[in-house]
Amino acid sequence: MTERYADVIIDIAHEKVDRVFQYRIPEELSEAVRPGVQVRVPFGRGNQEKTGYVVDISEETDYPPEKIKAVSSVDEKGMSVEGRQIRIAYWLKRNYGSTTIAALKTVLPVKQKQKPLEKKTVVRCLSGEEAALAAGECERKHQRAKARVLAALQTEEELPYELIRQKLHVSASTLQALERQGYLCIEKEACYRNPVRMSDRSENRPRLNQNQERIIGEVLADYRAGRPGVHLVHGVTGSGKTEVYLGIIEEMIAMGKQAIMLIPEIALTYQTLLRFYKRFGDRVSVINSTLSAGEKYDQIERAKAGEIDVMIGPRSALFTPFANLGVIVVDEEHESSYKSETSPRYHARETAVEIASLCGASVVLGSATPSLEAYYRAVSGEYKLYEMKERPGNSVLPMVHTVDLREELKQGNRSMFSRKLRERMQDRLSKGEQTILFLNRRGYAGFISCRSCGHVMKCPHCDVSLSEHRNGMLTCHYCGYQERKAAKCPSCGSPYLMGFKAGTEQVEEAIHREFPGARVLRMDADTTRRKDSYERILSAFADEEADILVGTQMIVKGHDFPGVTLVGALAADLSLNRNDYRAGERTFQLLTQAAGRAGRGERPGEVVIQTYQPEHYSVVYAARQDYQGFYAEEIAYRGLVGYPPVEHMLAVLIVSRVQEDGEKLGKEMTDLVKTEMADAAGLRVIGPAEAVIGKISDLYRHTFYIRHGVYQTLVEAKDRLENFCRERELRGQTVQFDFDPMNTF
Ligand code: ADP
Ligand code: ZN
Ligand code: ZN
Repeated sequence: MTERYADVIIDIAHEKVDRVFQYRIPEELSEAVRPGVQVRVPFGRGNQEKTGYVVDISEETDYPPEKIKAVSSVDEKGMSVEGRQIRIAYWLKRNYGSTTIAALKTVLPVKQKQKPLEKKTVVRCLSGEEAALAAGECERKHQRAKARVLAALQTEEELPYELIRQKLHVSASTLQALERQGYLCIEKEACYRNPVRMSDRSENRPRLNQNQERIIGEVLADYRAGRPGVHLVHGVTGSGKTEVYLGIIEEMIAMGKQAIMLIPEIALTYQTLLRFYKRFGDRVSVINSTLSAGEKYDQIERAKAGEIDVMIGPRSALFTPFANLGVIVVDEEHESSYKSETSPRYHARETAVEIASLCGASVVLGSATPSLEAYYRAVSGEYKLYEMKERPGNSVLPMVHTVDLREELKQGNRSMFSRKLRERMQDRLSKGEQTILFLNRRGYAGFISCRSCGHVMKCPHCDVSLSEHRNGMLTCHYCGYQERKAAKCPSCGSPYLMGFKAGTEQVEEAIHREFPGARVLRMDADTTRRKDSYERILSAFADEEADILVGTQMIVKGHDFPGVTLVGALAADLSLNRNDYRAGERTFQLLTQAAGRAGRGERPGEVVIQTYQPEHYSVVYAARQDYQGFYAEEIAYRGLVGYPPVEHMLAVLIVSRVQEDGEKLGKEMTDLVKTEMADAAGLRVIGPAEAVIGKISDLYRHTFYIRHGVYQTLVEAKDRLENFCRERELRGQTVQFDFDPMNTF
């Protein structure tokens, strides 16, 4: 019989988890030793017995086998929370391809020494009306931050300190100043034992409709019957999905269970968090990217100690070590930010399903535009499907117009705005209603090229086109390289070196030109470089400090603007022109989500979609807000060409210092798959080829793809390739894997 070895980490509470030790698995323990179990092992010179966790099992070792010590015993107590975390890390490594260490670091929080956080609450010392008056007063004095706090306190008697600091962007000194003025007091831990007594909790609580009650009831009934399962809630924006999540979580807590609530970072707004705080008081905690590693660790410790019941956050909140997890909710499950862009490149939705099955927890997925993956499984019966087709109350779905830009040009309209859109914008300006203009692109101008010879200005390191910025510099968005824009074409000397004019700055300028006096806010990757500017711009717009908000895809997600009655998609098909099989899905999602921004308040909304491809099915179905129609067409296409979710795809990226090395390795790896695996398993290999971006920061990139109907077969292919690379002891080259990729390498 071949020997088997266990990779063991000794002390996971240690600052570093990057030391793994190998032990031989004795015959009599071969059944019991699995990833995640706790073992006793002899350690160090004195062979002192220590406790460790098994993180992986292998049949190979880098040491002389006779020198390897054996596992002494297995702890039979069943799997601890830590053990479960390690099982998850092992699963990530296996299913997405990464090193053991990278997988462990993803799952286990990094220990940081820091003084424990003090829990604080901001309590209003005025009546609600007085707070409103004081807010108005501050507004007049242009004390915006103070005004924001007082306005928030007008409706809430008290608010969590952190919520105000992070989500209203108010500094500690501003809060202290307000405290000195006698408007509020900041209460510390000691007098902070009761859950936050925020204003009349029942007041903002809508009476759930029958459909909402039914969904909550079915999810919980399945859970109680021992069939937790995965539930997909397909509900248009504003149909009341969040109320459903709140209802399910509330019942779970009543049963002594905990909940993980995933929300994309971009949608973690003050309004959303407030709803959770109001319902669950200080039993809620939030993890987001503004927290330091120490603060994150602190939150994780609180979860482990049973001090909180609900953890809210983006992707990483998934790994919160609750002892009795009851449900994982994944809101906006179609969001591409749920896929990690670094190794292990896991998808939070798939990982949620795995974690939930380890814990016996339910999974609830929600979206207005479900991913093809989730809907495909729902249709096939693997997930349960619920539809929420209407918005509660009077709020109705918007009216959508599609404008053919080719026709506009024929009629002599060279403006960025079609006649229809311009007329509607004018109408909104005159009525004092707000407009959102959405452009699926960033930068002042796209690439710069010569109109005489076609030469494109590219980054010398990255092989991507440079973008022009207003300061006259050409910039590479991958590596940051900059050069001054030349007056003449470097190739033919012609002076006609120009950009294609379709950027958010350009749109802003066009508005100023065509609608003088309109107040404009712009939001794109350039204006939101600072951590908090995203939310600053959104709240300024929500406070009606501008008439028009211009931005990239980030403005169409997750925010409620009751004053918006018009949404314009300026060039709906820009996202169709990417060489990536998800382009149709992305376009449909973006347009549908954009349309969902119009008319969230009392007044009905209108949407104008401008496009060069009005007949494209993504545009047609988005204009009709017809998800099922889109799904039917898209899934047929995916099936025909063998793309996910019908089949699966493994992308392999080879990064090399020397171009020829990368080419050669790609050839060897694809040959290996073709000769050793293809016939038996029916794997299809595409490539190798230079990646879409062939070079980044002077490193060459080659890629190839493998497709197959069964995910596990691709996992085996990955294992085989990993072994091949290990045997080759690659130098100056790295290999990365991406399963069912969201983006092309
Ligand atoms: P979604 O999460 O689907 O976008 P929300 O749960 O945020 O929808 O609900 C949208 C708005 O409708 C919220 O202001 C919410 O308070 C309100 N709402 C939800 N359910 C009901 C209901 N049954 N009756 C009245 N209002 C409701
Ligand atoms: Zn030229
Ligand atoms: Zn570059």
